[in-house]
Amino acid sequence: MRVTRASLPGWRHVYSGKVRDLYEPEDGDGVVLVVASDRISAFDFVLETPIPDKGIVLTQLTLWWFEQLTVPNHVVSLDVPDAVRGRAMVCRRLEMFPVECVARGYLTGSGLAEYRETGSVCGVPLPDGLVDGSRLPEPIFTPATKAAVGEHDENVDLDTVARMIGAEDAARLRDLTLEVYSRAERLTRERGVILADTKLEFGRDPDSGQIVLGDEVLTPDSSRFWPADSWEPGGPQPSFDKQFVRDWLTSSGWDRHGDAPPPPLPDDVVERTRARYLEAYERLTGAPLTLP
Ligand code: ATP
Ligand code: MG
Repeated sequence: MRVTRASLPGWRHVYSGKVRDLYEPEDGDGVVLVVASDRISAFDFVLETPIPDKGIVLTQLTLWWFEQLTVPNHVVSLDVPDAVRGRAMVCRRLEMFPVECVARGYLTGSGLAEYRETGSVCGVPLPDGLVDGSRLPEPIFTPATKAAVGEHDENVDLDTVARMIGAEDAARLRDLTLEVYSRAERLTRERGVILADTKLEFGRDPDSGQIVLGDEVLTPDSSRFWPADSWEPGGPQPSFDKQFVRDWLTSSGWDRHGDAPPPPLPDDVVERTRARYLEAYERLTGAPLTLP
């Protein structure tokens, strides 16, 4: 991929997603090293221009959130190779459920599109008259099936998840997802930030059989955070994420539905996006991130 992947003594590369690289130990098993790179994706493309320090922000914010949550998570230790210190964690190797567990407290994005067509989102009926950015009567679980690289995830209802993984696990994923959302939403609200929606990934610990929270949590890549003081339903909200990147790509003349990859990002878009990630960390945790 466009960014050179560190070669890590003692670890063998097993998988790369859009943002993270996974390694397994050369001896031993049961754990994975999850490394967040500085890669950024937009419109389901991985861009060729990295955002410096983004991987550290994602990892440190995830670790901070794991401490705030009561749901069990996959972190085992932070004893990682120097080359990836700050942006890697040693985790339980989980059997991941093929489900993106999304909770929404506000209506926007793919949820809004589905609501406009059907009046419901993922089988959950909603009241009439909601607009882009509306607060929902209560948070809802809106799962999606994981799509292959370059494809969009597909929103599905709880019954579909139940057919895929069994009714008991499906209900458990819904309950855990809504539990994480409510707790996180209360915490961000205290910081003047709205958690509009968030995507979680769970897996099963093969040893204990327990369902565990994996991947990253409550980062700008997996969640929509809106400044509470400027929230005004009826249109897109300003947000603590890749908005500059999306806006720039849209105005650059690049055709997101065409064959060409996205163009490289100009320096000022990179710098403003980097600042946005650092600002999100500080705003949510209440303290600036100390970079190594
Ligand atoms: P997305 O963009 O939707 O996050 P991706 O597949 O491109 O998808 P990355 O976040 O780049 O994802 O890669 C992380 C990968 O590691 C995901 O496939 C995720 O399911 C997997 N993963 C996360 N935690 C664990 C774990 N503890 N054990 C096994 N796999 C894990
Ligand atoms: Mg991911």
